[in-house]
Amino acid sequence: MRFMVRYDTDSTIELLEHIGQVAFRSSLVNWLALEANKADKQRIAQVPGVLEVYPGRARRREEAKSQRYCDRCCTQRYTTVIQRAETYPVLGEPTTITANVCVCRTCGTDLFDMELDEANLTRAYIQAGCVQTEAGRWTKPEASECEFPSPTE
Ligand SMILES: [Zn+2]
Repeated sequence: MRFMVRYDTDSTIELLEHIGQVAFRSSLVNWLALEANKADKQRIAQVPGVLEVYPGRARRREEAKSQRYCDRCCTQRYTTVIQRAETYPVLGEPTTITANVCVCRTCGTDLFDMELDEANLTRAYIQAGCVQTEAGRWTKPEASECEFPSPTE
């Protein structure tokens, strides 16, 4: 796999070439991409002069995933997930949970995230003592019949 390596001096490159193959090297900054075995990450990190090492593809994918269109900024922005109390109506009863909300890192506007939204709703239903009978359908059985583990346990 490919590792992105930030290094201190050129002599570090020679040492890295004993572990893997340098796939490309930036001529402007001290970064290079090293093809090596996944298990070699620790070895790479311990090479003298290596300042930082992380899997190349994984980081790029994460960054792409964390960018989303912000309605207020009118452009793609990096996002962050914050936790805050949200109240959802569950079968007519307001239920407050600690929700995970995706917000714009620049202006703080809430950005819709279907996965987070569904997980929040599920948490609210569970907190209200409901059980899921089929996908998307919840009922609230009598307390004694409810075998669903409460999220606080
Ligand atoms: Zn924004």
